[in-house]
Amino acid sequence: MTVRVRIAPSPTGNLHIGTARTAVFNWLFARHHGGQFILRIEDTDLERSRPEYTENILQGLRWLGLTWDEGPFFQTKRLEIYKQAVQTLFEKGLAYRCYTTPEELEALREAQKARNEAPRYDNRHRNLTPEQEAAYKAEGRNFVIRFKIDDDREIVWNDLVRGKMVWRGSDLGGDMVIARAAADGIGIPLYNFAVVVDDMDMQITHVIRGEDHIANTAKQILLYEAFGAKVPEFAHTPLILNQEGRKLSKRDGVTSIFDFKQMGFTAEAMVNYMTLLGWSAPDSTQEIFTLEEAAKQFGFERVNKAGAKFDWAKLDWINSQY
Ligand code: GLU
Repeated sequence: MTVRVRIAPSPTGNLHIGTARTAVFNWLFARHHGGQFILRIEDTDLERSRPEYTENILQGLRWLGLTWDEGPFFQTKRLEIYKQAVQTLFEKGLAYRCYTTPEELEALREAQKARNEAPRYDNRHRNLTPEQEAAYKAEGRNFVIRFKIDDDREIVWNDLVRGKMVWRGSDLGGDMVIARAAADGIGIPLYNFAVVVDDMDMQITHVIRGEDHIANTAKQILLYEAFGAKVPEFAHTPLILNQEGRKLSKRDGVTSIFDFKQMGFTAEAMVNYMTLLGWSAPDSTQEIFTLEEAAKQFGFERVNKAGAKFDWAKLDWINSQY
């Protein structure tokens, strides 16, 4: 089996250190196994995606030396593929049109809040009759397409970083929206759906991404199963934390890769430092390596579960070694 991994940034901002670190781990894993590293731009959020962010992401990856073997693929150029995939789920009876209005959803959420329940869609349009559907259409209601999630389904995977993960269908918020409507039927796909369709199509063997995607993974596994596709391996990497132990974010000031460049950090020092954000070499005293040297030793057995604190002093020290 050839290892195939990918990163799938959304061009809604500049290349962030979190995405760059995910790219580093994917790159190292691919190189370690003589596999392929694929770049996919997830630009289906039409309002927030910008070409200049795509450009920044591509340039940032190039500056860091994280060359990719295939892509960049753009999701907005693949809409026909997602439509066909929605069609497949319709044919299998696993998807349906939901006409619940935003106001109805809001009322449902309020009622759940009053009962101290977590917000979830109550699957009320799962079994509409053709007559009911026609009536909603006649009212001029819009629809979304939902994928059926059974509450009593158990979802289990062996995470390469976190070990055995167990989720229940009932944890996932009810039947999930996979696509919006369009004038001709099926419109823009939503994140979880487009990701699975792409990862199947691109024959991704290992999905390596931040642990903030764990709940998405549970949903995505159900989609793989619905398509009868092989489920890839998953590795959820620890988040990068700020000094207070919270996820490093734009509010912490410097987060975008070219900010670090402007401050005088070299590309070699940056990738070296990011390699150590959550991973350590078998000889843990070794802290200075090129990407190629790190790739020889890289594996998930030495990726931490705990968050990785961003450490300026260490970055400075590494930078001084180059
Ligand atoms: N577009 C997603 C993000 O930027 C990709 C997550 C994934 O790797 O599936 O968070």
